[in-house]
Amino acid sequence: NKLRVGLLFGGRSGEHEVSISSARAIAQAISSDQNAQKYELLPFYIQKDGYWLAGEIAQQVLTSGTPLQLNGSNIQLPNPSQTSLPIPTSPYLPVSSSSSSAQVADVDVWFPIIHGPNGEDGTVQGLLQLMQIPYVGSGVLGSAMGMDKIAMKMAFAQAGLPQVKYMTINRAQVWSNPCVFPKLCDQIEATLGYPCFVKPANLGSSVGIAKVRSRSELETALDNAASYDRRLIIEAGVVARELECAVLGNDNPKASVVGEITFESDFYDYETKYTAGKAGFLIPAPVPESVSSAIQEMSLQAFASVDAAGLARVDFFYVEATGEVLINEINTLPGFTATSMYPQMWEKSGVPFTELVDQLIQLALERHS
Ligand code: ADP
Ligand code: MG
Ligand code: MG
Repeated sequence: NKLRVGLLFGGRSGEHEVSISSARAIAQAISSDQNAQKYELLPFYIQKDGYWLAGEIAQQVLTSGTPLQLNGSNIQLPNPSQTSLPIPTSPYLPVSSSSSSAQVADVDVWFPIIHGPNGEDGTVQGLLQLMQIPYVGSGVLGSAMGMDKIAMKMAFAQAGLPQVKYMTINRAQVWSNPCVFPKLCDQIEATLGYPCFVKPANLGSSVGIAKVRSRSELETALDNAASYDRRLIIEAGVVARELECAVLGNDNPKASVVGEITFESDFYDYETKYTAGKAGFLIPAPVPESVSSAIQEMSLQAFASVDAAGLARVDFFYVEATGEVLINEINTLPGFTATSMYPQMWEKSGVPFTELVDQLIQLALERHS
């Protein structure tokens, strides 16, 4: 009697492809010799348009590693009524009772691995919660807090964690009448100075983020970020090394060894994150022991402060000149490919990938019971 693991991947965010890569690695781990006696894999693929597909076709996406073209050009779509039955609301859940493909009702535990909005932000978690089936990772609150940089920073501040100076504004202030906007820019310049970082509150993968060094760059960046989200955050820029720590567990979580991201670009932007060879990982990070232990401690505090569960990657700025460590953010569904930081940091902490996946599933069951 194997436990049937519903691997939920793809999704409507810009991180669709990353999700497929993460899901491939997790699928492999679930089907590995160590885990195959315990678990049976049921893949569920959410297309870019939000349509859910299960069974063979989802498996094909995992195997090929490429997104399903919405016109079906790269994969032969079976009769849709056999694989998925659209309900006139999004998401479309496959609910037909075809014997050849898995159904939502067959799943004993969900492993959602959809990064970014509509995946990592509590929306999928709310759906799974309503289904009353255990799922890997944070619940609704932890996911939503971890996705929203403003809510996250409020929780971090409440927990006494040091962070960069920041301001929060909304889209209406940016798109207000032309007399108000210059005052807003004046205020940002006076409070934060240059360089500063303009970010949409709810995104990831550096999408919509700009480092600005002048008034005209600030104006452009604010307008651009406002097109992504109603709420924006602007932060004072720091010159710092970027360190990360992986957290695993529920009420008594553990912190991994600390890792460092290195890159040549101006900051850790989208291109640097997703172009092979543009970023390097150093695990463990070559920093003093006092710095890594402070980061591990702060990671556990950050995890608890947003009510995360299961897993999270906590990211930091290490200002080497002063020895200061500032928390940057928490990611509740971090990249999970075989070469991603989160699993690599656990690997270097003595938890191999296959065991990590097993532990996460067990943590989901523990939290639900
Ligand atoms: P995301 O959730 O999209 O990863 P981050 O807040 O982590 O967004 O920002 C992405 C990258 O931008 C960081 O990894 C870092 O390189 C750079 N960055 C963001 N904020 C700052 C800051 N205040 N000072 C210096 N660099 C920053
Ligand atoms: Mg993030
Ligand atoms: Mg980040």
